[in-house]
Amino acid sequence: MAKQMKRTSAAKVKSSARKASRPAVRKAAPKRSASPAKAGKYVYNFGRKTDGDGTMKPLLGGKGANLAEMCRIGLPVPPGFTITTDVCTYYYANKRTYPAALKAQMQAGVAALEQQTGKKFGDLKNPLLVSVRSGARDSMPGMMDTILNLGLNDQTVGALSTKTGNARFAWDCYRRFVQMYGDVVLGVQKRPDEDHEPFETVIHQLKHDRYHQDIEDTKLTVDDLKELVVRFKALVKERAGKDFPSSPWDQLMGAVGAVFGSWMNDRAIVYRRKYNIPTEWGTAVNVQAMVYGNTGDTSGSGVAFTRNPANGAKEFYGEFLINAQGEDVVAGVRTPEPVAELKKQMPKAYAELERIRQTLEKHFKDVQDFEFTIEDGIVYMLQTRNGKRTAMAALKFSIDMEKERLIDWKTAVLRNPADQLDQLLAPVFDTAEVAKAKVIATGLPAGPGAASGQIYLNADRAVTAADKGNQVLLVRIETSPEDLRGMIAAEGILTARGGVTSHAALVARQMGKVCVCGAAAVEVDYQARTVKVGGQTFKEGDWMSIDGTAGKVYAGKVKTAPSEIVAGLVEGDEAARKTEKFRNFQQLMKWCSAATRMSVRTNADTPEQTANAIAFGAVGIGLTRTEHMFFEGDRIDAMREMILAETLEARKAALAKLLPYQREDFVGIFKALNGYPATIRFLDPPLHEFLPQTREQQAELAKKIGVPADRIHARVEGLHEFNPMLGFRGCRLGIGYPEISAMQARAVFEAAAIVQKSGVKVRPEIMIPLVGFKKELDLQIDVVHQAAREVQAEKKVKLNYLVGTMIEVPRGALTADEIAGSADFFSFGTNDLTQTGLGMSRDDSGSFLGTYAELEIMPKNPFATIDQTGVGQLVEIAVAKGRRTKPDLKLGICGEHGGDPQSIQFFNRVGLDYVSCSPFRVPVARLAAAQAAIRQ
Ligand code: ADP
Ligand code: MG
Ligand code: MG
Repeated sequence: MAKQMKRTSAAKVKSSARKASRPAVRKAAPKRSASPAKAGKYVYNFGRKTDGDGTMKPLLGGKGANLAEMCRIGLPVPPGFTITTDVCTYYYANKRTYPAALKAQMQAGVAALEQQTGKKFGDLKNPLLVSVRSGARDSMPGMMDTILNLGLNDQTVGALSTKTGNARFAWDCYRRFVQMYGDVVLGVQKRPDEDHEPFETVIHQLKHDRYHQDIEDTKLTVDDLKELVVRFKALVKERAGKDFPSSPWDQLMGAVGAVFGSWMNDRAIVYRRKYNIPTEWGTAVNVQAMVYGNTGDTSGSGVAFTRNPANGAKEFYGEFLINAQGEDVVAGVRTPEPVAELKKQMPKAYAELERIRQTLEKHFKDVQDFEFTIEDGIVYMLQTRNGKRTAMAALKFSIDMEKERLIDWKTAVLRNPADQLDQLLAPVFDTAEVAKAKVIATGLPAGPGAASGQIYLNADRAVTAADKGNQVLLVRIETSPEDLRGMIAAEGILTARGGVTSHAALVARQMGKVCVCGAAAVEVDYQARTVKVGGQTFKEGDWMSIDGTAGKVYAGKVKTAPSEIVAGLVEGDEAARKTEKFRNFQQLMKWCSAATRMSVRTNADTPEQTANAIAFGAVGIGLTRTEHMFFEGDRIDAMREMILAETLEARKAALAKLLPYQREDFVGIFKALNGYPATIRFLDPPLHEFLPQTREQQAELAKKIGVPADRIHARVEGLHEFNPMLGFRGCRLGIGYPEISAMQARAVFEAAAIVQKSGVKVRPEIMIPLVGFKKELDLQIDVVHQAAREVQAEKKVKLNYLVGTMIEVPRGALTADEIAGSADFFSFGTNDLTQTGLGMSRDDSGSFLGTYAELEIMPKNPFATIDQTGVGQLVEIAVAKGRRTKPDLKLGICGEHGGDPQSIQFFNRVGLDYVSCSPFRVPVARLAAAQAAIRQ
């Protein structure tokens, strides 16, 4: 029984899901349209005479503006008029009343419809019926649902029946109207204690009273429909406490008020908040003459795309239902048929739709998503808009349309959403397989892509399993630097705790690893080596799969395949390079290079990461974090010896052990760079991070390096800081222990000498972190130059190098004119500049950023997208002051923001020379940089 009953709610879910899948595209500034509104003009006609056009979305809403535009290009649109968003603004500014002139303008609008259709509103011979449709600038879930067939009452329904000779049709319209109007205008909706929509309950009851079973709506007889109307009206009377309005004008004014009222309902408010849509925009209302898809088997309604929005194929894509009205197609009452079927069933209408499809693309020069109705074989257009699309489809559309000369290459670049591009690089789950798999938990989508593997709960065991050739998924409560090897070995990383800036997420992005983090439902038991989730217990070695694009966790193994783009670029897979996806991607990147002003470098710590980034088009390293070089294998022991050393001599001895390791690392990186520059940041984190924290670990280390455990403990205590982020770190380390910087500089220059002798150009750019005072930089520069002199003399080479600084504390930015006197370059460390500029620790911000987002204190997470007005000002000041001292000062940015499209647009505007980001972000950054240059 529930089948019929569920229908309306399914309809609502589906239609709102359909709307939700097209989130509003935010426009930078809420500009008024090119053709300004005439004062006091509240109603814009479309049809035989059309007042508006497609550019007037702010005033007419997206739907209204495009209806007008379609009329202008001669497409078959039922006539109508749009009540402007200004009326919405007026309505809320004036205690929910209308401008005095509105009613008369609406009357003129209705008169124009009457004149064009030959029907009359409320007429007893040939009644005009209209739809009332909401329409904000962008389609917005939460707004009032459309009302169809408005103008019907007990008299006009008879007229419609007589006029059309189709009583069933007339009564079907009437019962639909009473139902829709009762629901959305009169608020007759499901109560909290009810399982079903009340109107659906009435339909269900009637079917059972009369047929003792569920039958399709299309099987209801005229008499059934008449009875339904009676029962619906009784329901309205009971629930709303008033009679259903019978006067068409009362109906119309009620519907218009409901549309404006819905602008401030909870659903709409929540949606606007989420997508940053200003309340001031308001909604328009469209009143349009009805055309009927429910007159019988020569009618129908449908939704279509001019091309396939999932994969980009140039094919007519969509669905339709015969003998259906409005949103029946998306409501799931009956299963719609693919639009191609129309070719057989209504060849003429199909040919017309094909023609319209061509016209739409030629005119709008983009893929359109449109709604149509066929009345007795004649096609009518009811809506069009730019279709939402996957990254894959966006790429193909843009390349194809440029080839077809619909758009130029710069427009093609702009058509690819930068923040979606990494979808193309991610490994993918086999679609058929994933449909069969079971979702057991959800978390944050931290590293896009799909990964399956046998789970391991610690790094060592993960590495051992991977070495044996197993596919491994590392599952941790959270990760730390010690897990790095395990993370590298794993196909994917799943954590129970931590946000998108957690260690796991950061590393995943840098390495292009699939990662789901903060999946709270995942219970990790390190002792028992089990993972409990969704009532299931997984042991080490059991299979799980994660979708890092959607943040989903699956039980078992789901088959994946690497993206053709990664396979082609990084693995040199010839077959992959021949695919269309790969070739399209290469074309896009070529255009990006041609358009961009800023270059893109990478944040990389290893030759492999460097090589990957270069394959993706990076032209150098913007940040090598040398601390990673102190962690691996035995190095950490030498590092710890250095920290525990009590004399300069002992410290130098320990550093001497580290030197060959670092030199080797730099050799690898310089070779991989093959002549591109490398910005190398000297040791930055506080030393306590390198020492074991627990007593057991300390005892273990004591045994290993022959130092008393108490001394280790004492040193750990001694290094304890109340606020390590602002403590003994950055250049403060190199100033306190110049021998550390000297060792690092020597390692860089010795490596440079080796690689240069092998015939490869080397361009090291040594970067001193956390500088706030010119003198800090000067002291470190002396150490670097000294090492350079020594190495050049020893190895008899001439080395080309720069020494610059990171601008990452406000004082550094504010005194950039002084600092530029010594620095060859600045690189903005926007992670710390945000932390110090906002006085907000990134790692501690999780506890309040949620509340801040809800209260809209900051527009976006400032650690993901740069806070332009605050931190951005520090950047602008430093750029201006730095260049005043040194006009050719090289400027870059190496914070996480370097891979964020919106931030990149800002960096382009303030005139930086390059951005730097993690290797797998490079294509995104190249696209964003190119788009910024094109838009400027
Ligand atoms: P939404 O914004 O939810 O898509 P619409 O205003 O586009 O709502 O209306 C939904 C559907 O109602 C349309 O796709 C169309 O099928 C139908 N519809 C709206 N106006 C008319 C009309 N004047 N004649 C026939 N059908 C209409
Ligand atoms: Mg629509
Ligand atoms: Mg920093």
